[in-house]
Amino acid sequence: MPAKFIVVLGSIMSGLGKGVVASSIMKILDMYNFKVLPIKFDGYLNYDCGTMNPYRHGEVFVLNDKGEVDMDFGTYERFLNKNITSSSSMTGGKVFGEIIEKERDGKFLGQDVQIIPHLTNEIQQKVVEFASKNKLDFVVIEVGGTVGDLENGYFIEAMRQLSLKEKVIFVDVTYVPRLKTVGEQKTKPTQSAFRSLMAMGITPDFLICRTDGKMEEGIKNKLSMFTSLDENRIINDPDMDSSYQLPKYLIEQGFDKTLLALFDKKTRRIDLKKFGKWNVNVENIVRKEGKEVTIAVVGKYVELKDSYVSVKEALMHAAGKLSLQLKINWVESEILEKRKPEEILGTADGIIVPGGFGKRGVEGMINAIEYARKNKIPCLGLCLGMQLMTVEFARNVCGLKTANSTEFNPQTKYNVVDILPSQVSVSKKGGTMRLGAWDMSIRNNDSIAFEAYKKTVVSERHRHRYEFNNKFRKLLENKGLKVTATTKDGKLVEIIEWKDSFGISTQSHPELKSRIEAPAPLFLSFLKASVSKNKLYK
Ligand code: GLN
Repeated sequence: MPAKFIVVLGSIMSGLGKGVVASSIMKILDMYNFKVLPIKFDGYLNYDCGTMNPYRHGEVFVLNDKGEVDMDFGTYERFLNKNITSSSSMTGGKVFGEIIEKERDGKFLGQDVQIIPHLTNEIQQKVVEFASKNKLDFVVIEVGGTVGDLENGYFIEAMRQLSLKEKVIFVDVTYVPRLKTVGEQKTKPTQSAFRSLMAMGITPDFLICRTDGKMEEGIKNKLSMFTSLDENRIINDPDMDSSYQLPKYLIEQGFDKTLLALFDKKTRRIDLKKFGKWNVNVENIVRKEGKEVTIAVVGKYVELKDSYVSVKEALMHAAGKLSLQLKINWVESEILEKRKPEEILGTADGIIVPGGFGKRGVEGMINAIEYARKNKIPCLGLCLGMQLMTVEFARNVCGLKTANSTEFNPQTKYNVVDILPSQVSVSKKGGTMRLGAWDMSIRNNDSIAFEAYKKTVVSERHRHRYEFNNKFRKLLENKGLKVTATTKDGKLVEIIEWKDSFGISTQSHPELKSRIEAPAPLFLSFLKASVSKNKLYK
């Protein structure tokens, strides 16, 4: 059977959680044992997200296959519990790049190359090929941005054209605001949004209405009257304690049945077993019972909530599994260059130093690590966090006072973190870091890493240009720093640990592989250590 396509659009404004809606639809289809994968379209002209600033655009998510993609991919993977590949990511940069390359190759000789039909045909062909190559039952296509944006117009047009040949369902995520002064929810913006889509030749099959609080009586009826959609096609997506509650809420509204009926696939039964672990962990997150644990995340992009979304999610997954009530304190690391760590970090049961680039705020992160080490507060370093744990140890335990990473001080005599040899001759910035999934070998005795993973070979995702400098390895180890994982060839250090308290950091980003159904092992160990108050967790 040829694949079917579900296109998720967003109206009125950004930030409505289209990614969560697209992920929830995929989760539901997966529970029906359909084979489903996403395509995300982003209108920007960057080839990928690798060169974007996390402070502006949010986290750059990294896939196993080295793809540097939009953070919505994190949501897809966390919901689907599957590894997704870069072929799911279509950007304006990629599609325009390909069409221009084809033109230069003479593939359109004699023609003037246009958005319609050349670009729109190219997009449709790619979408259809993606479905058949992966032997999919469904493709869920999320269109980034808002309907009416110049950047995504040609993509929406391509989907309209696709609907003339293939079975395509359009889902519009829209907003039903509550006006405080009037005290009621208003449908007018959604009515106008619906009309704008109709003017583009698209009639949405579903409206998914974001509301604060549940949708009021009469709203469905009113929207149904103005849009000619059946009431069962108007679905509510209210603010919830956890976005992981959405699939269940959609099912409770009968969305799954109505959707599958449109595709003549109403005979399949939902496989509730697939919801088992998911539900238990989500319930634990929402219930807010259990021991409290406060984690300080000392980062340099904390003001933008989306910059460390995978770290936040990984903490939440682990807290759910361990039935802990999690509180995250986001600490801007520059503050720790001016104020005493105990004033800022005094209430933390555990400290995370996440990834980052550039010099700003780095000394504050080093101060946080020193504070954690000296006060035996569990500490987890991620990528930059590992590099700075190395610098802190070199400076304050080994007495190499000017130790640093050459990223921050290229002149330092004690370059305990240095550029990867493979990076020295790299001049182009896009897609050139050490990226994607790499295996590491873990020491199986006396290591927190082995206690956590219970395996000697694990794979985690990477995104960095600098590394632990092996020239200093002996010296640091002699002073008590433990190297507990390296690449399989032993050449690159992957995990280091303290010996007197729970301190572990990794060159990788384990947060990127954490799922609600499979929390990241290092985050589980870290939270266990944090809640058991500072002891070396075994
Ligand atoms: N800036 C460091 C490097 O490039 C760390 C990168 C990161 O934290 N992802 O190696």
